[in-house]
Amino acid sequence: MIIANNVSKQFGKLKALNNVSVACNKGECIALLGPNGSGKTTLIKSILGMVVPDSGFITFNGKNILHDWLYRRHIGYMPQIGRYPDNMTIEQVFNMMKDIRSFNEDTAPDNSLAEQFGLTGMLHKRMRTLSGGTRQKVSASIAFMFNPEVFILDEPTAGLDPVAAEMLKERIIFEKSKGKLVLITSHVLSDLDDLITHVIYMQEGALLFHKKIGELQADTGEQKLSKAIAAVMLKK
Ligand code: ADP
Ligand code: MG
Repeated sequence: MIIANNVSKQFGKLKALNNVSVACNKGECIALLGPNGSGKTTLIKSILGMVVPDSGFITFNGKNILHDWLYRRHIGYMPQIGRYPDNMTIEQVFNMMKDIRSFNEDTAPDNSLAEQFGLTGMLHKRMRTLSGGTRQKVSASIAFMFNPEVFILDEPTAGLDPVAAEMLKERIIFEKSKGKLVLITSHVLSDLDDLITHVIYMQEGALLFHKKIGELQADTGEQKLSKAIAAVMLKK
């Protein structure tokens, strides 16, 4: 579904992505892991078309994304930090996204996550008055509003209260069961245990490994993701 072919990106002398090749398929829920600065966000932004690789290319459903920006409508993206116009209300932000995203689409927007999060009772509130967690809820609601084929979630549970984090995890599991592709980064590895099918581990811009979770567990003898990752790092 998404294939990166020998993707490299350099910022000055720094190789943010070094010859990364990876294939992500329908129904997979992939944890994108690695230390700070290892290139995770640069890879995500390359997939979204916000960063253009120096060499190599990315395809979405078989088409090079360089020549076909419309593929972005198939992606629900939750940024690590969502930035919104301060003076807009939650409702105005939702409506703006609906105006942009519903272009040519026949499906009605799905407000269920916003409802679960209790946002529908505070639609009149302005973005600048919201707590960090409530902003995250707005970002999550938008990512899940347009029935995309792919979800790209950058630290989705950071800042969410435990009840909201659990709702979001349930929703991710539900989308995965419908055959969607989910790509998640998180520093809270325990949040990922019930979700993921694969792990991609990056280091210094390169792909260190890409494994099924079962393989990683077998290789390390550890069931929990946090322990399995620690075991891999110690062996190196
Ligand atoms: P991660 O998300 O894994 O923490 P990033 O992909 O954000 O890592 O960054 C990888 C490296 O590229 C870092 O050293 C970062 O400072 C650098 N980098 C990222 N974006 C830019 C940019 N626009 N200009 C210069 N350097 C950048
Ligand atoms: Mg990052």
